Amino acid sequence: MANELILIIEDNEVNRVLLRDVLRFKGYQTLEAQTAEEGIRIAQERMPALILMDFHLPAMNGIEAFKALRADAVTSAIPVIAVTASAMPEDRQKKILGAGFDGMQTKPIHVVEFLNTVGKALKSSSKPA
Ligand code: MN
Repeated sequence: MANELILIIEDNEVNRVLLRDVLRFKGYQTLEAQTAEEGIRIAQERMPALILMDFHLPAMNGIEAFKALRADAVTSAIPVIAVTASAMPEDRQKKILGAGFDGMQTKPIHVVEFLNTVGKALKSSSKPA
């Protein structure tokens, strides 16, 4: 079953549209935000099953937004996948995973790998009630 609601926080339109199209093709429902602040607000209002967080965003960046989501009881349990440029140095990538993100996806995305990462993050977060 792949109809979960996924929030895409990404300021680059080309990337955002690509992520959205791939997810929708697979049957997921999507929400979009272009800034961290907008993304946090939408997450609080709509409680998505998963958040894809671009790392480089205007004003508040992806790590700061991730920390804000975790600090808020409403959004603290929503899994978050960091979406980063593949050119990012390895030590920086380790730092991101060390911050507690539920997964990492590098850009440009490889569709099969990306959907695999999304599926895993959703699976690990779905606990029986
Ligand atoms: Mn960006």
